[in-house]
Amino acid sequence: TKITIAIDGFSSTGKSTVAKRLAKALGYVYVDSGAMYRAVTLYAMQNGLIETDCFDIDGLISQLEDIDVSFKFNEDLGFAEVYLNGINVESAIRTLEVSQFVSQVATISEVRAQLVKQQQNFGKDKGVVMDGRDIGTVVFPEAELKLFMTASAEKRAQRRYDELKERGDDVCYDDVLKNVQSRDHIDSTRDDSPLSMAKDAIKVDNSNMTLDEQFEFILKLSED
Ligand code: C5P
Repeated sequence: TKITIAIDGFSSTGKSTVAKRLAKALGYVYVDSGAMYRAVTLYAMQNGLIETDCFDIDGLISQLEDIDVSFKFNEDLGFAEVYLNGINVESAIRTLEVSQFVSQVATISEVRAQLVKQQQNFGKDKGVVMDGRDIGTVVFPEAELKLFMTASAEKRAQRRYDELKERGDDVCYDDVLKNVQSRDHIDSTRDDSPLSMAKDAIKVDNSNMTLDEQFEFILKLSED
């Protein structure tokens, strides 16, 4: 029988890489909840709601119903890409600019309410691997398998830096590390922080684990 797998943890802990692989191996659907917050952030940037030192939160809330976030499976890539109002934004949401604003957007309770509802809807048929910050606590408190991924900030910044470089983005490691640390801070210090470990989650520190080791470890848990 199919189960629900919730994978939470700090940014750049490799959640999505392992979640995608797991979904593929199990024949499950993979949902990247962070991509949904990123897509809403991109919308705000594209519609003049976020400028360097000004963020029109009320404006964004009033336009929430105009924001349609969806996923479409890409056969070649083997996972579902994210779409904003019908346009593929899988790559556009991964810039450092979006990363710099997304945690602020994710603090807006109206945004969270809308996205959580949509995420729960994706999971209603089971057979879902979803990664994020609040999946095991808020989105699917009943998930049969919950993981909480951690790794040192330096390891995570290095991974994110390598990813951005591979895309050809012009970034420096220090800025990436600062962004990782500032998002950790925003994500973990808010009163209603989305990032907390569910009581029944299994903690996986992958600072010194290879992708294969993580995958095998989690696959085994999903079979138990
Ligand atoms: O996972 P990713 O790093 O792409 O997520 C981007 C941001 O979206 C996080 O730093 C966090 O602020 C927010 N987020 C959230 N709840 C989720 C997933 C992401 O608040 N379930």
